[in-house]
Amino acid sequence: MTERYDIAVVGAGPAGLAAALAAATHGARVALIDAQAHAGGQVWRKDVAHGWPRRAQAAITQALHHPHVTWLAQTQVVHADPHSLLLESAVGAQRIDYAALVLANGARELLLPFPGWTLPGVTGAGALQALAKQGWPLQGRRVVIAGSGPLLLAAAATARRHGAHVLGIYEQADAANVQRFARSLWRWPQKAMQAALLRGQLAGIPYRCGSVVRTAHGDSALRAVTVESARGSERLDCDQLAVGYGLVPNTELAQSLGCRLRQQGVHASVEVDAMQRSSVAHIYAAGEQCGIGGRDSAWLEGSIAGHAAAGAPAAASLLRQQRHARAFAQALETHFALQPRVRTLAQPDTLICRCEDISLQALDGYSDARSAKLATRCGMGACQGRICGAALAELGRFPRSGTRPPLFPARLASLGDNLSDNHRESSV
Ligand SMILES: Cc1cc2nc3c(=O)[nH]c(=O)nc-3n(C[C@H](O)[C@H](O)[C@H](O)COP(=O)(O)OP(=O)(O)OC[C@H]3O[C@@H](n4cnc5c(N)ncnc54)[C@H](O)[C@@H]3O)c2cc1C
Repeated sequence: MTERYDIAVVGAGPAGLAAALAAATHGARVALIDAQAHAGGQVWRKDVAHGWPRRAQAAITQALHHPHVTWLAQTQVVHADPHSLLLESAVGAQRIDYAALVLANGARELLLPFPGWTLPGVTGAGALQALAKQGWPLQGRRVVIAGSGPLLLAAAATARRHGAHVLGIYEQADAANVQRFARSLWRWPQKAMQAALLRGQLAGIPYRCGSVVRTAHGDSALRAVTVESARGSERLDCDQLAVGYGLVPNTELAQSLGCRLRQQGVHASVEVDAMQRSSVAHIYAAGEQCGIGGRDSAWLEGSIAGHAAAGAPAAASLLRQQRHARAFAQALETHFALQPRVRTLAQPDTLICRCEDISLQALDGYSDARSAKLATRCGMGACQGRICGAALAELGRFPRSGTRPPLFPARLASLGDNLSDNHRESSV
């Protein structure tokens, strides 16, 4: 039987939790869906050793225990139609209908390939944090953190809290930009407080600007990295490298529903108005997929979207706070813009598509992602081009291609009876 909800919310990070809560306070019947076992999204991912931060715990308890909210954990949206979602979980597939939809499915890390990046021991910066919170042992391991943006600091703090010996944080942005960013933080007192807290937690760990990891060395596992900066190259012995160059909005679900995207450099985000309405009637979007803005912005946008989806426009004060939070996103984008150097890290024989083992030079001669994919299988693996597609766009090879169902690899049994005929034809 197809369950029917007033509002379906995809994603239970700060944006989705806020949307579900706001909508439920108006009496709407809400389905809150997330692929993860626990609510909280990326920033509030449950830490098996330390639990949730207090604010996250309160938000999660309130949303999940609200009588109007049905919590669908470990449930992935694999396909969406304008009024229904196809969900897959361990127990099988299910369809739900909705009157309004809030997309709050976040962002992923931008990984830029370089020699050695596929060695065991190399992960994204946020990915290391996620692994640590899920119990991956870091006690006594020598960790190098690199890439760009404040996420590096959060990752380093988590690694240290889990017993890692963090050797250094290597930021690609130059010192002048990072200092300008730090000086602008007075405009967002909560962020300034967070930064001060992190400074304390990271005391004694070198923070080097204008630095990139050029190579990860090792045979069957990571043994060392070469870091390049204005002062030259240095080799550091280490056990773990966590490197991420910022975040890329997860726009595939919105795209598959026909929502208009806004191009931001080589990546895109979902276009919304002040009430978080997308270009498609009754579909709202909030949080990182509308542009990388951080936790506070995601929470505010989720609240606005939840109120609006329930037919009750958000208070003017909420809209004002959201505009202020979005200005922080703009500051992040400006001061941590990627330097041209990071686009030169991949060498001709560097693997670009790690799911299908495709090197950069194997893609020479193809002018678009689709022809490269058909001829080489680049982007056809488990991540469905989410990692290599974003990297290739950043390297100036191909713009990101469109999307088609299913959104994630799914069981044939889930798709068999559930995709409409025309989608089934276009998938084979
Ligand atoms: C790996 C990683 C680690 C991060 N760590 C931090 C940090 O420590 N501090 C910080 O300030 N910021 C961090 N960020 C930035 C973070 O994304 C935001 O600040 C904040 O979590 C954004 O909230 P959100 O609700 O927009 O999205 P998210 O918190 O990303 O939540 C989106 C949720 O949608 C779910 N989802 C996505 N697609 C589907 C689907 N098809 N079906 C079902 N569920 C789906 C995901 O499982 C996820 O739980 C991190 C980002 C990443 C990618």
